[in-house]
Order: sequence, then structure tokens, then C-alpha cells
Amino acid sequence: MTVEAHYARLLQLPPTWEVTKVEESLLEQRVTVWLRWPDGVRTRCPECGEEALIYDRLEERRWRHLSVMQYRMELRCATPRCRCEKHGVKTVRVPWAEPGSRFTLHFEAFAVAVIGACRSWTQVAGLLGQHATHHQRGGEAWTGPSHDRRHHARGPR
Ligand SMILES: [Zn+2]
Repeated sequence: MTVEAHYARLLQLPPTWEVTKVEESLLEQRVTVWLRWPDGVRTRCPECGEEALIYDRLEERRWRHLSVMQYRMELRCATPRCRCEKHGVKTVRVPWAEPGSRFTLHFEAFAVAVIGACRSWTQVAGLLGQHATHHQRGGEAWTGPSHDRRHHARGPR
């Protein structure tokens, strides 16, 4: 099994999403996984669910995922846009994250559990900060779960 196939299996990607590249940096303690919807394969319109052809791809985006061992894991994808006969050009919904979120669903679920278990936001920030921003430079700090998930989280008082 190739490393790409291995990660595609671990990520439980629905067909026809594929892992095209995996890169690990021991120095930066990071594993990066590139995902792609293949050319020429029909996807579904996010509005009506009808089959639609890929129209183009957006600029590559990153999503923070749960760590692999001590390594911070990041998913990257140039999200495709499809052209629906009814709705025009629409960004395809990726299966690993809510629209607009910079974190995967798994990471957000973990964050919600941490928030529920903590007594203070300082504790939350400490735990998630360490998990989310260890070895990070730059401004990508934890900003809380996306709106859809937030109402599931009963935060500390
Ligand atoms: Zn549509």
C-alpha cells in the first residue's frame, strides 16, 4: 500500500476523493496531506444534489486536522467548483469540514469535547493551543469551533 492509499484509508474519504501527495516534515513536526477530486469525474451541486461537472478549482486551502502521533496534521485541497444547470457555478462541499471552517470536523469534535471537559477558557486555550498551535508560527491560532458546531458545545463558566 502506498503512503497516499494509507492516508486515504485512514481519512475514510468517500469516493472519488483521493490523496495525491503526503509530505512529512520531521523538523517542523508536521504531516501534510493533499486531497483532490479527479478531473472529469462528476460531482454534486451543493444546492440541489444533482450531478454536475467540475468547472474549475479554487486556490489551495488548508484545514487543521487531529495530530498524527506528535505531528501536527494539515489537509490541503484546491476545492473544486462545479457548474449546475440550475444553480450555476458553485463550490463543492468537502466531506471533511464545514464550509468556511479552517478545521476538520474531527478536529472540531475534539475541540468541543475539550471545551465540555474544561473549567475555564484558559484551560481550553491551553489544551487546544498546545494541540493546535504547537510549533506554529504566524497567526493561525484556534478561534473556536465553526458556528454550526458551537451550539453543541456547552462552554465553561
Ligand atoms: Zn444545483
